[in-house]
Amino acid sequence: MLGGSALVAAPSATPPSPRSAVPAPSPLIVGDGRTVRLISLGGDRTDGLLTRIGGDIGAAVAAVEKFWGTDWDREIVVIATGSQQDFLTQAGLDPRGQWQDIAAVSVAEQVDFAHHRASGQRMVFAPGAVAMSDQALRIVLTHELFHLAARADTALDAPRWLVEGVADFVARPPTPLPPGAAADTALPADADLDAAGPQRVHGYDRAWWFARFVADTYGVDGLRRLYTEACGPGHGDFATAVHRALNTDTTELRARWAQWLTG
Ligand SMILES: [Zn+2]
Repeated sequence: MLGGSALVAAPSATPPSPRSAVPAPSPLIVGDGRTVRLISLGGDRTDGLLTRIGGDIGAAVAAVEKFWGTDWDREIVVIATGSQQDFLTQAGLDPRGQWQDIAAVSVAEQVDFAHHRASGQRMVFAPGAVAMSDQALRIVLTHELFHLAARADTALDAPRWLVEGVADFVARPPTPLPPGAAADTALPADADLDAAGPQRVHGYDRAWWFARFVADTYGVDGLRRLYTEACGPGHGDFATAVHRALNTDTTELRARWAQWLTG
């Protein structure tokens, strides 16, 4: 499945502030005192979706904090849209793009890396999200929340496959690998996420497996270090990041990855 997408709104797009939308009656308080603002733009249908999200957001915050720590936005804005047009507008997405199979995105108006701050962050759910199962919704919510939490530590040119793989590591239960998972032992790549259809789903899965492999082999701290070194502002190339974060080289990493895939 596609757990949504991590996108920073194009600078030319100036979507309306979420505060101009219809506000939810009162914000939720979750975790260590974070405020959650739930904004419903699609009437009863999206009210119901936000009720489900309201029930899940505490666990999503806990999962993200467990992996990433607590130094991120104190306010979480979640917008549920009732039409594709609203979705594109609220998310600041290019209407010419392929967004039909995207359940949710998290976006920011601006990221100030020097001050470790992102402004105008929000999670926007597409109208189709109302049809998601409870488990799929929890995964998408947690996945997008990780993007939001890591925003100020994620360079605009970060390797997307690793950004997505780590978000899925935080969000998805570690289900067994399907048969044939070891057929391809190349390192995941951004190109795998670009093709529409099954190839993209497989690309997300392989990125997720890779993150699990790193956590299993080098520890969860190793995975977090790899994210910071490979995806953070001013990151080096992947080989340098691997060396710094995991104290190994890509040849050794690939050999172990192949081994892990084989089980
Ligand atoms: Zn994502």
